[in-house]
Amino acid sequence: HVERDPEIQAARLKLPILAEEQVIMETINENEIIIVAGETGSGKTTQIPQFLYEAGYAEKKMIGVTEPRRVAATSMSKRVGKEMSLSEKEVSYLIRFDGNCTDKTKIKFMTDGVLLKEIENDFLLKKYSVIILDEAHERSSYTDILVGLLSRIVPLRNKQKMPMKLIVMSATLRVEDFTSNSKLFKVPPPVINVESRQFPVTSHFQKTTPKNYVQEAYKKSLKIHNKLPEGGILIFLTGQKEVKYLVNKLRKAYPCNKDINTQKTASHLKTKKKQEVDSDDEFDVKKALNHMKRAKKKFASEISLPKINLDNYQLPTDDTMADLLEHNLEDDELSENYDTENEDDDDNEEVPMNKQPLWVLPLYSLLSTEKQNRIFEPVPEGSRLCIVSTNVAETSLTIPNIKYVIDCGKQKTRLYDKITGVSSYVVTFTSKASADQRAGRAGRTSAGHCYRLYSSAVYSNEFEDFSKPDIQKKPVDDLILQMKCMGIDRVVNFPFPSPPDADQLIMAEKRLQALGALEETENNVGKVTKLGKAISAFPVAPRFGKMLALSHQHDLLQYTVALVSALSVPEVLMESKDSDNKWQQTRNKWASDGNFLALGDAMILLRAVGAAEYAGSQNKLEEFCNLNGVRIKGVTEIRKLRVQLTNEINLNIPQANLCVDPQMKPPTELQSKLLRQILLSGMGDKVAHRISQDELTTKEEKRKMKYAYNVLDLQEHVILHSASVLRKKLPEWIIYQEAYEIDNDGNKKIFIRGITEIEPEWLLTYCPK
Ligand code: ADP
Ligand code: MG
Repeated sequence: HVERDPEIQAARLKLPILAEEQVIMETINENEIIIVAGETGSGKTTQIPQFLYEAGYAEKKMIGVTEPRRVAATSMSKRVGKEMSLSEKEVSYLIRFDGNCTDKTKIKFMTDGVLLKEIENDFLLKKYSVIILDEAHERSSYTDILVGLLSRIVPLRNKQKMPMKLIVMSATLRVEDFTSNSKLFKVPPPVINVESRQFPVTSHFQKTTPKNYVQEAYKKSLKIHNKLPEGGILIFLTGQKEVKYLVNKLRKAYPCNKDINTQKTASHLKTKKKQEVDSDDEFDVKKALNHMKRAKKKFASEISLPKINLDNYQLPTDDTMADLLEHNLEDDELSENYDTENEDDDDNEEVPMNKQPLWVLPLYSLLSTEKQNRIFEPVPEGSRLCIVSTNVAETSLTIPNIKYVIDCGKQKTRLYDKITGVSSYVVTFTSKASADQRAGRAGRTSAGHCYRLYSSAVYSNEFEDFSKPDIQKKPVDDLILQMKCMGIDRVVNFPFPSPPDADQLIMAEKRLQALGALEETENNVGKVTKLGKAISAFPVAPRFGKMLALSHQHDLLQYTVALVSALSVPEVLMESKDSDNKWQQTRNKWASDGNFLALGDAMILLRAVGAAEYAGSQNKLEEFCNLNGVRIKGVTEIRKLRVQLTNEINLNIPQANLCVDPQMKPPTELQSKLLRQILLSGMGDKVAHRISQDELTTKEEKRKMKYAYNVLDLQEHVILHSASVLRKKLPEWIIYQEAYEIDNDGNKKIFIRGITEIEPEWLLTYCPK
């Protein structure tokens, strides 16, 4: 029996899904697997776990709910606990590095990655009576794989008389990928469509598509607030930095009396703005460590991570940049290129006229949960609600009382280069499906309007119908390795809702074989090796996992952790525009200290990371970064990753006793040599050989080809980037971190950067391929 607060009960009764409780429960009782599709906000996430609880599904085993976003896992567990008047001991969550599960937990919200890891240790998921895969339309790789796995696990459990149910929940989008895929479900599961009370939304397109959509969003919100009747405004932008910028600008335009962020003067605004940015961005290492210690205890009972037997590997160690964050949907914070400096051009067109205060709140995935929850709190008397959000508000969180939506029509995505596997963040148009979801947010409580900051021609011609599933967008090396660790050797035969590209699979398998993570076979059914198991225990791309797995030798772990973290963050070192180039001079000096230049650009990163950590306080760190051309945001990101990795390693190998040492000394000459071997062992596919200068005859040729190298798999030569400290030495054999193409008016050149020298005699040992 559940006791509910009368106010909450009244709110529940208004949700469309309440009318469907009986149908849903009857269908789930009669079927092993069902699909529930319903408009965002209809009550799927908050209510269905409660229906199951009341029907007795949590009496002996747990109800498990997966979310692709961490935000949703934490905030939904809180909400459901509150609605049911149960404590967090009973309605809990588990995300990587954090959680509050107990042995009393009845309903467990978790990220999809966490459940996948659990399957590795308990294939039948014996602790659960039912699994809900939420937000399946997001098509995150982990959720896709879970759908495939559970399509087999659930029938197996029922056959073995341990009944289990699966509920796949999705917004009303492309459910056919799940239902009409006979490889996945031989008999299509029943689909329950939750009717929603959606009010009509009128969409308004722009005549043209402006470049500066942030500025355009600002103008549009002023227009709405100045002229249009009551009703909340929801603005969709692409990233955290844009969101913060617009929030500040709007708060300045319409000071809100009771707003805790009241701002009177410009200078006040400045310090305030800074404080806000700091408190959101600052990563408190100590706090994180303590947090981890607590999480570690919980983890110990929750997931037993495999122990790594590193002793099998005598010698030091592919693929893409490490995806260290739990999920790529959370990439908000990385690569924020939005330049707020140049944005103050003309906002004269529309000026704030309305005296009514505007209650402006930001929303993005890395905002603290308390701040996120402010979107659900009552708006101060007399003011209008305005939320500036990334696409977190598209389907994961439903904000009440929105009447106007402003949609920039864009989103940030991570693109992967087919040749190099290197990723970059780009802002691209969203899909029609996403744009329609965003518009729909305006019609939850009454008829609404959606202002689209792009033309109808752009919408029709340039927006795809749907975004591609993640699994078809990015390299799948880490997923394949994880699947092989679960004993799924024939990945080609796996019942993916949408299979990854066949070439992608073959390439990934080859790269994993070259790393030594998979057994060598002709037909891509290679089993995972012992080394492969060790690699998969690290939450990074396999090539970096290998480097880490080998670094317990000669006290190298602290360096490899720092390096792998630094290599995972793009553009840490800025390029100087001055001719005397003080930054470069400092870097050259860092690299040649102790006369062992060979580690090259990797040494610069190590030194920069170490020195930034040493600088300590925020002020000193800023000073250090400005002086040396180091991107401060990059350093902050690296620090986060370093703490994460350090903790993860301590969990796996307690005797490693690793910490993030602000006093880390530069590596010795021997260590530096070993580190080069470690780097090579992970980067065996990124070896370059200098083009012999002897064969060049003319002076012109010699000048042109001075920095030219040959690389595997590429016909044309590549050029050593001018920022590399090894330009001075031009070693014969090198490895590089990144190759990228620059198109200068049709004159294409490929540059390589992140250079480390290697010895040719190492090639056979460390990358026999
Ligand atoms: P769905 O999963 O179908 O998109 P949800 O179950 O997330 O729908 O949301 C149902 C309702 O609960 C929405 O009206 C939403 O605004 C409300 N809600 C969700 N979380 C909270 C919260 N933390 N505080 C107040 N209301 C909430
Ligand atoms: Mg939901």
